Formats: sequence, structure tokens, C-alpha cells
Amino acid sequence: MRTITVIGGGASGMMAAITAASLGNRVVLLEHRDRIGKKILSTGNGRCNFTNIHQEPICYHSRNPFFPWEIIRRFSAQDTVSFFLQLGVYSKNRNGYLYPNSDQASSVLDALRMELKRLKTEIRTGVHCREIIPGKKGFRILTDGETYRSDRVILCAGSKAAPSTGSDGSGYDLAKKLGHTIIPVLPALVQLKCEGTFFKQIAGVRANGTVAVYADGECLARDTGEIQLTGYGISGIPVFQVSRYAAESLYEKKHVEAVLDFMPDFAEEQLYSFFKARAALRPDKTAEEFLIGMFHRKLSDLWVRISGIPRGKRAGELTEDEIRALCTLIKQFRITVTGTNSFDHAQVCCGGVDTSEVNPKTLESRYVPGLYFAGEILDVDGMCGGYNLQWAWSSGRIAAESASVSGTA
Ligand SMILES: Cc1cc2nc3c(=O)[nH]c(=O)nc-3n(C[C@H](O)[C@H](O)[C@H](O)COP(=O)(O)OP(=O)(O)OC[C@H]3O[C@@H](n4cnc5c(N)ncnc54)[C@H](O)[C@@H]3O)c2cc1C
Repeated sequence: MRTITVIGGGASGMMAAITAASLGNRVVLLEHRDRIGKKILSTGNGRCNFTNIHQEPICYHSRNPFFPWEIIRRFSAQDTVSFFLQLGVYSKNRNGYLYPNSDQASSVLDALRMELKRLKTEIRTGVHCREIIPGKKGFRILTDGETYRSDRVILCAGSKAAPSTGSDGSGYDLAKKLGHTIIPVLPALVQLKCEGTFFKQIAGVRANGTVAVYADGECLARDTGEIQLTGYGISGIPVFQVSRYAAESLYEKKHVEAVLDFMPDFAEEQLYSFFKARAALRPDKTAEEFLIGMFHRKLSDLWVRISGIPRGKRAGELTEDEIRALCTLIKQFRITVTGTNSFDHAQVCCGGVDTSEVNPKTLESRYVPGLYFAGEILDVDGMCGGYNLQWAWSSGRIAAESASVSGTA
């Protein structure tokens, strides 16, 4: 019987172990934490958004843009739903975002653990893998204690995001020692730190709008939703969605700006006409009172102050330039991005093992036959919304299927 060792007991590792065991292999799962699947518990705010029914190639990023889709289309969101249904997890659909019906991430983890047990996989926790040594008769895996021998190895050690869950980046070192290139690993799906002392004043405000990221003047990405203003900068789902572009551009030493549009449904000219009519309707209101009912008071006060309109000036006396200045601030609130929050706060990372060194059909290393990769350790990151777990399930499945059929044991 072929022995397949899976390094890392996260989402991709558990999927790989279940697949390899169900195909008749002896499976050993090595995990350096005291338990497997810790990260899954914090996903989707504790509810686990385990996939998304809207799938397109652009939902996944890699330096090698065709690579992720090769894998996703072979184990799709529908396959994920069926897989979990067989494990007893019935899904709940929120606008295409799928969660377990229980709304508990722990039930996804429990279902996976029960399946691993049913398939008699050998789970070894508290085992930190230090080196993988390929040889003529398979692999030796060096750990702090025992040395493990294996016919095939699937490396599922994750990224550097949320290291308290176990993904401390040590998987990259294992891959590097075997000759693989690591594309710079940066926090993604993360908050952005921005310049401006005014952030302290507007911290805690949430507003719907569009955030666009520009690097050296070029717009790289935009997304719309609830923007959260914090003491250090900006957060919220649309910020997460564009954060990878900011992280990469900052790494390349580009000047990065976020341009916030707090009235995305209005063109700037339309907003100007609307404000002219609004000022004519209640000319006695002060400039500060003029925006009440449209925006959070802290934002209105900030815009009036930055636009240079004298405090207390009546709406009916606002000049065309003053109204236009307000419109520009609301439609194009331009801030300099100075950094991302740290890996501790990131949901995923961009970068990782260079996918051009990995076979896109099998996920086998092009350098080390018998070594496979799955999950976030690869240079693949998905959008926020269930795509990163989908990547973990799909890649874990395909890597284990390939490891089960390739070569001779
Ligand atoms: C707060 C948060 C919320 C998220 N919410 C969602 C969501 O709702 N939907 C979604 O799709 N994605 C979400 N994600 C992202 C998603 O959880 C990850 O992309 C996914 O879990 C990655 O799976 P993985 O198996 O590649 O890595 P991990 O889950 O990180 O697993 C890697 C495992 O390897 C172990 N390991 C590492 N190095 C070694 C070593 N040297 N020896 C032994 N073991 C080792 C680690 O301890 C860990 O258990 C979220 C992430 C975070 C942090």
C-alpha cells in the first residue's frame, strides 16, 4: 500500500488526506499545532463561508493567471457542495455565499475530522516538519522528533496569514530547500494604513462607497460596499478586495493611493446639480448642517473643514467653487496608502510557491517527483467570499488524486 504524507492539517491538508485515504492509500497527516483545522474555526466570522456559487477565473489571482482555474474547474463549487453534503453538512446560500446551515464553522471542521477518523488516517499533532528529503525510495521527513518515511508528500503548510492558527510560513522554507522559488509573500484581504491625522476624528464611521486603488497614477482595482474608517486608515470588505494590489504596489515601491467615492450612484456633475438644488431649498442652513441626513456627521464636518468653507457659512451663500470642492471630496476622497496591516490581521497572503514550477494538471513539483502542493502555500489567492477555501478544497483534492495514481509506489 502506498504511503502518502500530508504536511499541514488545514483545509487543503484535510481535503488531501480524505481524498488520498478514500483512494486506498495509507495516509499520515502531520500538524505542528496541538489540533488540526484551527484556521477554519475563524473563517466567515465563525460561520465559515466555505465556497461561493459564482465562480469565474478572475476570482483567483496568481502570477501565472491560468493556473488556479485549471484546478478549480476540475473540482468546482458544486463538487464542494456535494462533498460536504456527503459528510452531512447542508449548505445555506446567502446571495451566492455558502455557509453550513448550522452557521457554525466548527460543524465544517467536525465533519472533516469525523471523515478522517472514519477513513483511519493517522493524524499526528505537535509534529513540526523541518525538512523533506527526497531519495530513491521515496521521502524522509525530518521533524523535531521522529523521521517519517513516505512514498509521496503533499505540502499543505499554508501561508503566513493569521500565524496564531499555525501557518507560520515554515512551509515556504521546506519548499525553498527543495529548489522552489517563493514569489514575495505579502498580506492580502487586509486593512490598509493611510496618511492623515483626520483618521482619528472619523474612526468608527461606516459608509457605503467605492474604493479604488491607484499605483503611480494607474487604477489597478476597485470595489464597492461598506467602507469602515478606522484610526489608522480603511477597512471593510471592499478594502480587503483591493488590498492585494496595494500590497504588491507598495512592495514595488510605488506611490499608492486609495480614492474613495461616497456617492457612487451619482456622477460628479449630477451631485453638483443636486447640491445646488439642496442649497436653494434650505438656504439658511450652515455648511455643516447642509450635509446632515446624507452622510455621517463626522464625515460632513471633515469635508467642510478640508474644503476651506468658513464655519457657519450659509448654504445659500456657498459659491460654485465651494460646492464643487465638496462634490470632489465626496466623489474622490484621495488618501495616500502607507502600508497594509500585518500578517496577524490578514485573511490570506498573495505570493508563495511559484506556480510555473508546479504542474497545473497534477500539482506535482516540476523539480521533485512525488512532491505535491495544495492550498495557500502556492502563489494563488482568491477574492473575499469563499474563494480561498474553494481553492484549498480544489487543490487538496487534485493533489491527492494525482499523488494516488502517479508513478509506482
Ligand atoms: C480570520 C480569517 C477568516 C477567513 N474567512 C474565510 C472565509 O470565510 N472563506 C474563505 O474562503 N476563506 C477564508 N479565509 C481564508 C482561508 O481560511 C484560508 O485560505 C485557508 O484556510 C487556507 O488553507 P490551507 O490549508 O492552505 O492553510 P492553513 O489552513 O493555514 O493550514 C496550514 C496548516 O499547516 C500547519 N503547518 C504549517 N507549517 C507546518 C510545519 N512546518 N509542520 C507541520 N505543520 C505545519 C499549520 O499549523 C496549519 O494547520 C479566512 C482566513 C482568516 C485568517
